Amino acid sequence: MTKIDEKLEPILAEVLRRNAGETEFHQAVIEVLESLGRVIAKKPYYADHALIERLCEPERQIIFRVPWVDDQGQVQINRGFRVQFNSALGPYKGGLRFHPSVNLGIIKFLGFEQIFKNALTGLPIGGGKGGSDFNPRGRSEGEVMRFCQSFMTELQRHLGEYTDVPAGDIGVGGREIGYLFGQFKRLTNRYEAGVLTGKGLVYGGSRARTEATGFGATYFVSSMLATKGMDFDGRKCVVSGSGNVAIYTIEKIRQFGGIVIACSDSNGYIVDESGIDLDLVKEIKEIRRERISQYARRKGNDTHYIEGGSIWDVPCDVAMPSATQNELTGKDARALVKNGVVAVGEGANMPCTPDAVREFQGAGVLFGPGKAANAGGVATSALEMQQNASRDSWSFEKTEERLAAIMRNIHDTCAETAEEYGAPGDYVLGANIAGFERVAAAMTAFGVI
Ligand code: GLU
Repeated sequence: MTKIDEKLEPILAEVLRRNAGETEFHQAVIEVLESLGRVIAKKPYYADHALIERLCEPERQIIFRVPWVDDQGQVQINRGFRVQFNSALGPYKGGLRFHPSVNLGIIKFLGFEQIFKNALTGLPIGGGKGGSDFNPRGRSEGEVMRFCQSFMTELQRHLGEYTDVPAGDIGVGGREIGYLFGQFKRLTNRYEAGVLTGKGLVYGGSRARTEATGFGATYFVSSMLATKGMDFDGRKCVVSGSGNVAIYTIEKIRQFGGIVIACSDSNGYIVDESGIDLDLVKEIKEIRRERISQYARRKGNDTHYIEGGSIWDVPCDVAMPSATQNELTGKDARALVKNGVVAVGEGANMPCTPDAVREFQGAGVLFGPGKAANAGGVATSALEMQQNASRDSWSFEKTEERLAAIMRNIHDTCAETAEEYGAPGDYVLGANIAGFERVAAAMTAFGVI
């Protein structure tokens, strides 16, 4: 059941009607509209000129065919997407996801979230997202390269450092960004470094970009804990996933003195009470590209691998869902609350179902929504764009310092906004409203476009 202000109900009804079947997109819009009732009660002008209706309709949606030839000489066809959702604050900015579950609704939910997330960073970036239903798992290097080249052959006409700047997401890391950038450069005959972020260091990438999402999410949770006089030291943590976000979340938690005892992939999870051996996870996932079950096989001793099941049954003080959308349900949230969780920070995009969020908030658990907690990745992408624009390259320390300051600022902005709107401690409301107000102010200045 939703708690949408009655003035916003017709807007939601139209979004649901016009985007039938796009359940994740509906979920993302409902969550934001639930927060906006309080804004239009205080500042009714933000409902004028169909501003909220315009915000829910992407500025442009691009869908294209991606043909490529596999190692057996067979022609494969995938579908490519780029949703250029909102450019009020800057060029469209957001990652590309290569995963078989990708469809227009998924890209729209991600693009919609990205608008508010990017606004919260305080940096000049609009919101967009893209990707393909291509499944990189089990594909050879050559197949991945040919797919990326074909994908970019179409996408390049829609990109530019002042137009649209993609980066990585699930299934798109440094390797794929390299192939995409190479093809862009070849097709356009321009060394336009600022057209993609998450690049390798030798061709215009930023230090700390690889680490940024996980590091940033951990900084965010650390700020939430501090409001209650707590920190990570000695706390048991569970981090779902074992991709880029999870790996660098585990690393930063360890630097903060916490102990990460479990992580996962889509097949199952591992529990290592002595603390996850990060070098082993990196080797398995980043170098060998194997399943996490290999961890238990290699480490032995008291490490367990549980096929299927829920990682959220593992008792912990801090939970950081860092795998994918809707991975943590109401039932999982109840198990975590029963086991005494004190803070939850979303490293992934929308990993907690609406039910789960209600459980956490109802139980007084500190809850950091993805659009605030995982904004460190895209924020550091914007820092990469700054370095590219000035043809400069910053040190790791300087970049991480900027990231830490941005995350503190996002935390404080969300907390202060929640307070201002009569819901202290509600980071969901704070993030939605603070992000919205920035975008809405720029949209209002531009008139009806
Ligand atoms: N895919 C990341 C996100 O969800 C990063 C996007 C970017 O760096 O542009 O925010």
